[in-house]
Amino acid sequence: MAVIEKSKTPKTKTPKTTFPTGPKKSKKSKIRKVTKSTSTKKENSNSPKKRNGKKCILYGIPIFIIFALVAALIVVFTLGNVNFGKDKEEVKEVDKKEVEVCKTPECIILAHHLHNWNDDSVDPCKDFFKYSCGKYNEHNTVEYSQMSKKTEILKGLIKEFLKKNESSSSKTENTMKHLFRTCEESKDESIKDKIEKERIEVIKQEAMNIGWPLADPTWRESSFDLAELLEQIPTILDGERNEIGYGIFNIWTPSARKIFIGTTTESFTDFGTVKRNILQVLGKDAPSNLDNIVKEINEFSKELRAIHASIPLSDDPNQKYSNNFEEINDALPVFDYLIKSLLSKGSRSWGKVKNKIYGYNSFLSKIEKIRDLVYKDKRITANYLVYKYVSNLLRFTPGYVECHQVVIDNLPLPSLRVFIRNHFDKGALKDVDNLVEDIRSSFIEMLEKSEWIREKTRIGAIRKAKAMKKTISYPPELEKPGALDKHFNIQLDPSDSYYLTMRKIDKASMNLLMDYVSSDFPMGPHFTLSSNAVYSYFGNSINIYAPLMDDPLFHSSFPNYAKIAGIGIIIGHEIGHGYDIFGINFDENGIFKPWFDAADQKEYENKAACLTNQYNNYDDHSFGKKLNGTFTVKEMMADELGQDVAWRTFKKLDLSQEKKIIGFEDDSIEKLYFQIGATTWCSPRSPLTLQQQLMRSHPTYSFRVNGLFANEKAFAETFNCPAGSPMNPVKKCTMF
Ligand SMILES: [Zn+2]
Repeated sequence: MAVIEKSKTPKTKTPKTTFPTGPKKSKKSKIRKVTKSTSTKKENSNSPKKRNGKKCILYGIPIFIIFALVAALIVVFTLGNVNFGKDKEEVKEVDKKEVEVCKTPECIILAHHLHNWNDDSVDPCKDFFKYSCGKYNEHNTVEYSQMSKKTEILKGLIKEFLKKNESSSSKTENTMKHLFRTCEESKDESIKDKIEKERIEVIKQEAMNIGWPLADPTWRESSFDLAELLEQIPTILDGERNEIGYGIFNIWTPSARKIFIGTTTESFTDFGTVKRNILQVLGKDAPSNLDNIVKEINEFSKELRAIHASIPLSDDPNQKYSNNFEEINDALPVFDYLIKSLLSKGSRSWGKVKNKIYGYNSFLSKIEKIRDLVYKDKRITANYLVYKYVSNLLRFTPGYVECHQVVIDNLPLPSLRVFIRNHFDKGALKDVDNLVEDIRSSFIEMLEKSEWIREKTRIGAIRKAKAMKKTISYPPELEKPGALDKHFNIQLDPSDSYYLTMRKIDKASMNLLMDYVSSDFPMGPHFTLSSNAVYSYFGNSINIYAPLMDDPLFHSSFPNYAKIAGIGIIIGHEIGHGYDIFGINFDENGIFKPWFDAADQKEYENKAACLTNQYNNYDDHSFGKKLNGTFTVKEMMADELGQDVAWRTFKKLDLSQEKKIIGFEDDSIEKLYFQIGATTWCSPRSPLTLQQQLMRSHPTYSFRVNGLFANEKAFAETFNCPAGSPMNPVKKCTMF
């Protein structure tokens, strides 16, 4: 297991991301910079123990050298010759001392966080978040946590890449640059109006080509073919870019190789908006009876909404996801045709997809009503569907969004590839892969050792942990030059406008989504370029994004305990989602099939309620005692499980082989583990309102530290926290 091996001297990479705008500094100057800031901090410190440690670093080596020189001179003068053998041994002594402390630039940054964010006037047994992060404000400008800061850095890197006008042989990179350039042009005041006029003309032509009865007096009902009409109007909906809208239903992939049919939302269109949009496209060609037509469109929309809302969204997964595609397709035979048309290989890949399609939220019981509505008046249906399509196309403007953000949002996978190619230390891949396996082993051990679960639960739980799939950053097959180009098939003409480019990207993105389901494309294309990791309930898979396994949370040169405390807890958290209160409904293949023993499930729900209560009574730094753990329970369970298994993994390390961190040579590694774990969530006061926080699925950052570690017995032991102190409550919540 990699994390318990003695750490080798790794090849390090200068963290370009750390000083993105400053002049290039040598490693030495970086060390000086950080040392200076830590020494400033130490001058104000009240901790005599640490000050001694600091002195040792600053003066230890020169004093040693002076002593060595004096000793050598004495030897020369008294014996008349030099004992070279002894000198060599002394040099070895120096080397040995050197390897005990990690001195890579990345470790020095870590040391900087631990020194400078820490507020040692706070009692760690009272408030560990404040103890570890109390001075974070003095060193950071980004709201939220370190991961958000990293995401901001990523944006800057992509922006720089886009602004640099370097030619590339990569089609996807050129698409990124083309989108960026045309986006900037469309914001240029001098040509903005001309571009907009051309765009509206293209949209109008498209609508006319499809056949829009309200603008075409020659339109005949006999020409109405629902499947053909729908085939022409899919668009990717905003948000996670994993949902394709068809006006009367949506299809989407839930970050797993599955397709859901149904609707998550049916946006309401008011009379004024519909009329304005139609007039914007048709201008003087709008029909004279437009008001009546708009009323019909709105009426259709209202009826459709009522059908979709007729069955409220259920929390019961059995009702939520039904494997009944054949029946759905029999009731309205368009779905096989539409999905085939989105697969790059068409019918040839259909066999790999057809068993992975699910009706969402009792869709089957709605489909007959939708069919009746659609065929009631074909002219109104066609007017409505083409209108919906046109209104989706109208949103293809950059608006106020910055152009590099437009590129990141619409081309996340090519953007990730740019980051990996130019800024990512690939040495992390093997390390993180090993770390995932170590955490998985600890997870299985935790299940094996659990004293309260019955055999049925244990067997199902272990089977799920063993089968859990993983993607570490990027599938190797996409690494090859041209591999992404082959899949992301966009034929751009240099004269293509922003609008046309976006349309082509949309089309290619829809193909990728479906090709992912058929396994013709190796990676879920719908993610955000961010420092994050995700678990998919429907795929029983974890996905660790490359930016997470990078500065500041991870580096190959980190001591193993820092790797575990940094992203090991996060990996454990993602695996833990397979066992949160929702995750236990899905088996090892991500299929709804509960495997918990019924009596165990009751007990497990009580354990979840323990966390909810803790959160409800938690006195948060930003919100006081006003939080509600009902929405955050899944995340808190994942946190709890993540810390449990990370600590188990940590306990397997041979700490005598672990390097120290500068300035913490005298501190226990156990203490460092917890402090590093806490710095992940360091953040200033929350910028959210209480209302916004209550809508979030994640608990507050301070709870993610204090709540988490207060439940860990080892924390109280490490910091000698008296029983009953805030970080050592008598009642602790545990899972397995
Ligand atoms: Zn989570």
